[in-house]
This record gives sequence, structure tokens and C-alpha cells, in this order.
Amino acid sequence: MNYEAMLDVAMTEARTGLAEGGIPIGAAIFRADGTLVSSGHNRRVQEGDPSAHGETDAFRRAGRQRSYRELILVTTLAPCWYCSGLIKQFGFGTVVVGESRNFEGGVAWLQEQGVRILNLDSPECVEMLDRYIRNHPEVWNEDIGVD
Ligand SMILES: [Zn+2]
Repeated sequence: MNYEAMLDVAMTEARTGLAEGGIPIGAAIFRADGTLVSSGHNRRVQEGDPSAHGETDAFRRAGRQRSYRELILVTTLAPCWYCSGLIKQFGFGTVVVGESRNFEGGVAWLQEQGVRILNLDSPECVEMLDRYIRNHPEVWNEDIGVD
């Protein structure tokens, strides 16, 4: 399975979000055979919607799925608690994480829940978000729920 190519799809979403003036976090959902189901990006700034994280945007765009066990959720950044809850609730079997240096999220907890986590530790993902956080610390803190 080419996880790097899957991450590229999420990265393209993150760049789209950045170009729209938003937080550069993207996600994509694939079937076990590598077919793309959906993709999305954080839209907090663009739509004034704090629930529109990269993962939830891709999740909603995937529409109804009979089962999530065989689906692969790919995200440029380690999923936050809100998205980790979504992953647990719907039973995603595999999560591909672009990086967890800027934000650790619920990765350890998800692993404890039996979710397979593949952390690609992508320097490109780290760099893009790190630059955004340095330039927009207030928006970033708002996104992760830090006062
Ligand atoms: Zn999230």
C-alpha cells in the first residue's frame, strides 16, 4: 500500500485550505484497495465552523458507509480528541498520520483502542503547520481548544 501517495492527497487538501486563508490540515479516506473515497480540509476560518476539522470534513464528504473497519483515514496531523472520538465511534481500522510533532493528539489512546496507526513523520507536514502556527498562534490555539 502506498501510504505516501495517500498522504499526498491529504497534503493537497491542506494546501488548498492554506490558500483559502485557513488552517493547513487535510485528510482523506481510502478503501483497503487504495481507492479514494473522499477528502477534505479544516474549514474553521473559511466557514466559521469549529467542527470542520480535516478529518470531519473528509468523513462527511464520504457519505454513509456500511462499515469503517476496512477504511483508511489519512490525515496530515495527529487527530485531536474530537476526531479521535470519531475514529473510535465509527471503528476506523487504520489511521495514517502525517506527523505528530506539532500536536500529539489522541494517537497513543487510539493505539490502546486497537486502531492501527501509521505515523509517516513527514517533514513537509511538520514544516507547513509549524509555519502556520508561528504566524497565527491565536487561530491555532482556538482550533485545539487552548485559551
Ligand atoms: Zn480534529
